[in-house]
Amino acid sequence: MKTPITVAYGDGIGPEIMEASLHILREGGAQLELERIEIGEKVYLGGNSAGIEPSAWESLRRTKIFYKAPITTPQGGGFKSLNVTTRKRLGLYANVRPCVSYAPFVDTKHPEMDVVIVRENEEDTYGGIEYQLSPEVTECLKLITRPGSEKIVRFAFEYAKANNRKKVTCFTKDNIMKMTDGLFHKVFDEIATEYPDLQSEHWIVDIGAAKLADTPQAFDVVVMPNLYGDILSDVAAQIAGSVGLAGSANIGLQCSMFEAIHGSAPRRAGQNLANPSGLLLGGVMMLVHLGQIEAADRVHNAWLKTLEDGVHTYDIYKEGVSKEKVGTQEFAQAVVARMGQKPEKLKPAAYATEVVKRKEWTRSTLPNPKVELVGVDIYVGSSERSGKKFGDAMQTATHGDLELTMVSNRGVSVWPEFMEETFTADYFRCRFTTKDSKNGMVNHGQILKLMEQVNAAGFDIVKIETLRNFDGKPGYSLAQGQ
Ligand code: NAD
Repeated sequence: MKTPITVAYGDGIGPEIMEASLHILREGGAQLELERIEIGEKVYLGGNSAGIEPSAWESLRRTKIFYKAPITTPQGGGFKSLNVTTRKRLGLYANVRPCVSYAPFVDTKHPEMDVVIVRENEEDTYGGIEYQLSPEVTECLKLITRPGSEKIVRFAFEYAKANNRKKVTCFTKDNIMKMTDGLFHKVFDEIATEYPDLQSEHWIVDIGAAKLADTPQAFDVVVMPNLYGDILSDVAAQIAGSVGLAGSANIGLQCSMFEAIHGSAPRRAGQNLANPSGLLLGGVMMLVHLGQIEAADRVHNAWLKTLEDGVHTYDIYKEGVSKEKVGTQEFAQAVVARMGQKPEKLKPAAYATEVVKRKEWTRSTLPNPKVELVGVDIYVGSSERSGKKFGDAMQTATHGDLELTMVSNRGVSVWPEFMEETFTADYFRCRFTTKDSKNGMVNHGQILKLMEQVNAAGFDIVKIETLRNFDGKPGYSLAQGQ
């Protein structure tokens, strides 16, 4: 039985490396039935700003498996990133990128490296929810959700278990972003207790990144929110030896996409030069995902043997280490010729038969917390430089049930105390809570009245955020210095 998959040959070196990869996968025993779609440069330039036609979505939704060669995003504005669109529309929440060094056959400073980066793929600042709030201030919203964090953290532990990994590490910056990254870390700690056979640890992302770049062998599987994962998965792939060698999987509850991590390398296109290894290893991850484990093992081991035998494309060719410099097609033939062989020095691939079970994951059902409205932050544009003068004017302008308790600028408290040294931009946050400290509760009518007063006094309201307690705990942060 062949499994239908959707294939895009992409742009630049895409078609050459896709031909080579599919040839190797087929010869390795992969059972695939291809549905070809057109995406990328031609589609963009044909006037479709998303780079993908409706008929391509139909194929993807039918097969649910996407094997994708790199594409070229045309220069100039107005073209939406196809990768981001595909990931988000198909709900591909987990980006998995194994970063392995192949010393001594491929040059690297880290011969012992074997790290898998698991990056959350849908949330964080990648919602692209941005605003210009005032002439001087721009904003990007960072969203971290409990179900999003649960999905990715559970995926990382299930991946580690299925692939005989020993440890899962979490990177966040929860010493600063206590609520968003704090939630990710909390979910990590909760889920880790369900996997007593695996070690788990948490690092603050800055020092964790430094350690990863310096001593990658200290890590095994590393899970992190979107932005840190985006940056560090490239760092990890690069220090392993070559971006040309890494594949990646984008996994969703229903659909999945497999690709190389590099781009379309337009300058190398059409010359039979490009290394197909990244896309091939993406294909091996696809076979594992489809449960075609034997074919995955066979292809991966033949590929490792080819590297070991010194048959190298130009990008990893090194005098004294490599034996033969070959083109894309010759490299593919060399891998096919080694089908059934295993590497002698490099660790052979041996994929687990237990495929990570994704469909069974459900969001945890927590009891609904008691939510209480306890105040409001009103954000106001103003060219006033002194926090003291601004806050005093706001206090004079407002009266009634709610009182001004704090003003901050870029997160730092500037009222009631203002230090002349504190820099201010043209946008203030004014925090109002109730004068009735016994009750503590506020209603929307009071907030609307307050906004009328602020508006009547000539202040420019840019936005508001309500302040809520969840089971008695503040669901908002204090200002720095408050
Ligand atoms: P790139 O990854 O295409 O190339 C970077 C360098 O690596 C170049 O020197 C290139 O020659 C080399 N290289 C890349 N892959 C190689 C391979 N398989 N074999 C040998 N050498 C290889 O990055 P870029 O030049 O920044 O981007 C080129 C285009 O690719 C852009 O249009 C970009 O938008 C697109 N891109 C697409 C994807 C994707 O589709 N997933 C990812 C990244 C970039």
